[in-house]
Amino acid sequence: MRVVVIGGGPAGMMAAGQAAKEGADVVLLERNSRLGKKLAITGKGRGNLTNSADIADFIPQFGDSGAFLYGPLHRFSNDDLRCFFHNLGVPTIVERGGRVFPRSEKALDLVSGLERYLREAGVNVIFEQRAASIVAENGRVSGVTVVGRTYPAQKVVLATGGASYPATGSTGDGFKMAAVLGHTIVPARPALVPLETEESWVRSATGLALRNVNVALTVDGRHAAAEFGEMLFTHYGVSGPVILTLSKIAVDILAAGKRPCLHINLKPALSSEQLAARILRDFDKYSRKQFKNGLADLLPAKLIEPVIDNSGIDAELAVHQISREQRQRLAEVISGLTLTVKGTRPISEAIVTAGGVSTKEIDPKTLASKLVEGLYFAGEVIDVAGNTGGYNLQAAFSTGYLAGLCAARQE
Ligand SMILES: Cc1cc2nc3c(=O)[nH]c(=O)nc-3n(C[C@H](O)[C@H](O)[C@H](O)COP(=O)(O)OP(=O)(O)OC[C@H]3O[C@@H](n4cnc5c(N)ncnc54)[C@H](O)[C@@H]3O)c2cc1C
Repeated sequence: MRVVVIGGGPAGMMAAGQAAKEGADVVLLERNSRLGKKLAITGKGRGNLTNSADIADFIPQFGDSGAFLYGPLHRFSNDDLRCFFHNLGVPTIVERGGRVFPRSEKALDLVSGLERYLREAGVNVIFEQRAASIVAENGRVSGVTVVGRTYPAQKVVLATGGASYPATGSTGDGFKMAAVLGHTIVPARPALVPLETEESWVRSATGLALRNVNVALTVDGRHAAAEFGEMLFTHYGVSGPVILTLSKIAVDILAAGKRPCLHINLKPALSSEQLAARILRDFDKYSRKQFKNGLADLLPAKLIEPVIDNSGIDAELAVHQISREQRQRLAEVISGLTLTVKGTRPISEAIVTAGGVSTKEIDPKTLASKLVEGLYFAGEVIDVAGNTGGYNLQAAFSTGYLAGLCAARQE
């Protein structure tokens, strides 16, 4: 059984190794001169490979595509993945929010572990081979073409990733190759992507990271979602874990022609009474100062001016002259600093690509194409996109495992 795997990311490496362990003769084609270029930069270089949550809790993290992943995730779970890396000499640790990282905190160790796995399994890895098309005759695959040559194959696993971070090699090639064979491609769009805001004041807050904030997303004044955690201001808008998670919903709202709003609660640990009391205490302390100089204990320096502007209170006013109503307005701004989302950063800057090969045309029990015999899919090339927290890499590894296993089997 000759299996050709296209793409040496986490999904492709897992598929190739697994197929070889099952006894297949496996060729892994990678367009770059090294494997796992994207994997090496995941989790800010620390490689958040999975989550310690109950595997059943993974499903909702993928929204509508979660049900499709039920089989692969149960067949090769987060515990299996941790065990897999442990056996390769890459033990893991669990951090806040159940995020699992290599104990070394080096994503590169995941890549080296997988390289060892491929070597031991006897996979023939061929670099700088950019697959151009999958050859199919009479409805079944027979090979993969790369400029100047064809690799014969009885089975092909397509694991070319999505279309984000193109410098890592994922440029959407797999979508085109699958489309030529008749597969429906759900249009690729950014998921887990920084958001651009209408308000230009964010520029002055560039680089400011806020921990422990609550951010609510609304559309037409109605609550759509909320997240607690860390966010970051940038020259164009906002980013960071909370924003990336909310972006999945924001993308859909924007696609419907609407502009969602973000409301940042800068003091989520305080009730409205506690916040009012806290403001009063600070105002007592700074009663002789100007308003603009009375907020230093309450807010990060970069947010003082935007909060004052949003409150509508004269920055030059003496603190003791501020009325009760004005204090109330200030409290409202602090617990709901509002930004209007005008768009997302481009797909090239998205952490994950939503869209891809339609799950309706893939058998979730085997990851085999329902249209072309001998063709399998794994990883982000499939129309699945999860939240931050290690879910996307787990999906890549789980689908890679199952695709490799099933591709190696004779029908
Ligand atoms: C900055 C960043 C941080 C991230 N952090 C995390 C994280 O901490 N946790 C998490 O769960 N997820 C994270 N992700 C998402 C995660 O990296 C991806 O979901 C995952 O890598 C998808 O795996 P894949 O194997 O499907 O695709 P990829 O990793 O994109 O690999 C695809 C491979 O196919 C190769 N290829 C493409 N086209 C061809 C072709 N025509 N011929 C041959 N080879 C080809 C590419 O060069 C590449 O090596 C992050 C993503 C980014 C961009």
